[in-house]
Amino acid sequence: MTPKFPARFACPFCQTWCSKGMSYLPHMQVYVCYACAEKNGLASVSEDEIGNRAQAKWTTDQVESLAAYQASPQYFPFVCDQGDIFEATTVGLFCPKCEQILKWAYAWTLDWSWRSLIEATVDHS
Ligand SMILES: [Zn+2]
Ligand SMILES: [Zn+2]
Repeated sequence: MTPKFPARFACPFCQTWCSKGMSYLPHMQVYVCYACAEKNGLASVSEDEIGNRAQAKWTTDQVESLAAYQASPQYFPFVCDQGDIFEATTVGLFCPKCEQILKWAYAWTLDWSWRSLIEATVDHS
C-alpha cells in the first residue's frame, strides 16, 4: 500500500509550503521538500532503521501517554496508510476506519518524555 501523499505540505526544514517532496518518517505525516532533502542529504527513513521502537503490548500508563501524544497539537501523530490518526490501545496503534494496526511506537511517545520535550523547546514567555 502506498501512503496517501498530500497536495501541499509544510516542509519542516525550510518552513514553506511545498508540493513536491518525500515522506520522511514512517507512519507520520512528515514530508520534506526535495530541495531540503538534497541539501541535508536526507533519505526516507524506513521502519527497520528506527532503533527506539517499543513493541506492543503496552501498559495502561504507556497507552495514556501515547493517547495524549496522539492528541497533542505540537507533534506529528502516528497515522495509518490512509492518513487517519491512530488510536492508542494496549495491543497497538489502531485505526477504527480501516482496521489497520501498528504494533510499535517510539519509546519516547510511551513514557511521557515527549511532554518534557515540548516544555524544553516551546518558549512560553
Ligand atoms: Zn524544504
Ligand atoms: Zn485508517
